[in-house]
Amino acid sequence: MSEPIRNTVILGSGCSGLTAAIYSGRANLRPLVIEGHEPGGQLSITTMVENFPGWPEGIQGPQLVENMKVQAARFGAEFQMGHLVSADLSHAPYTLNFGKETVRTHTLIIASGASARWLGLPSEQALIGHGVSSCATCDGFFFSGKEIAVVGGGDSAMEEALFLTRFATKVTLLHRSDTFRASKIMLDRAREHEKIEFRTNVAVEEVLGVEEKDVRGVRLRDRRTGEYSELGISGLFLGIGHEPNAKAFAGQIDLDEDGYIKTHEQVFTRVPGVFACGDVQDRRYRQAITAAGSGCMAALEVEKYLEEHGQ
Ligand code: NAP
Repeated sequence: MSEPIRNTVILGSGCSGLTAAIYSGRANLRPLVIEGHEPGGQLSITTMVENFPGWPEGIQGPQLVENMKVQAARFGAEFQMGHLVSADLSHAPYTLNFGKETVRTHTLIIASGASARWLGLPSEQALIGHGVSSCATCDGFFFSGKEIAVVGGGDSAMEEALFLTRFATKVTLLHRSDTFRASKIMLDRAREHEKIEFRTNVAVEEVLGVEEKDVRGVRLRDRRTGEYSELGISGLFLGIGHEPNAKAFAGQIDLDEDGYIKTHEQVFTRVPGVFACGDVQDRRYRQAITAAGSGCMAALEVEKYLEEHGQ
């Protein structure tokens, strides 16, 4: 016997997906939430979140996202691990292929997020949340009065470096070449800032402090001379870009040149009944609260769509 067609499937269990699950759950739609390779999304890899309204003392990122999950489950949301292999959005009900399992659904909320790019060093991975971060807005505050470094040569890196000067005593910008992708205005602003020092043609080879569970520096290699050096810092921020998790939808919904889902009226894709929310469609704000807000919008649109289509 084939599985019943779902009212709605929510792809992604970060802040936007779980908010969509809370709203669609409360609307009695019994949403199915698919948890992918980073359950809980980017909040699950941060430490203290101090800017999410309602938590005056702050809350740990993993706890915040767990609270949302419990809240969604309370209203009937179901959770399932899965990796989307392909999707057929050519006609409703839509078909999602998760390898061993196929799910059919009247509506779809894509909340699959964007994954921060990392250097991929074991020492970097070990220190995420302990001085290594990919989000200056989230974690900058913890580095008040300290020396830190930012990796990257694009607008994200410049923006992070400039933002971090509010807290840090010194920000060293580490870039692997001496040509920059950053816009001239951002680059000039960073170059002219008295707290920012540029070090170009350097590769980060290791983040120091794994044993202490706290960043205490980086080991750098000069890419022209091959010489190694150490830079003492208390925090390392990665500003080397994000990868939106939308590849499985290429050709079926509109993606921009960097692979982000193009939406209109906030959360609408060009396929009726298919909505996108959170970081997979937002390259600008990327905050937990904005992701949650767009997840709410997507769920309200799903409700409306199902009502209009008599489901
Ligand atoms: P980006 O423009 O792709 O720049 C990524 C930077 O990271 C590049 O300098 C790249 O170096 C470096 N990088 C990538 N992988 C690396 C690795 N493994 N190791 C070391 N360095 C690495 O990404 P972005 O800065 O996130 O910007 C993305 C888009 O968003 C752009 O269109 C940007 O203009 C926009 N944006 C705008 C603003 C703003 O206007 N306020 C703010 C943020 C982002 P190479 O150059 O050597 O490849």
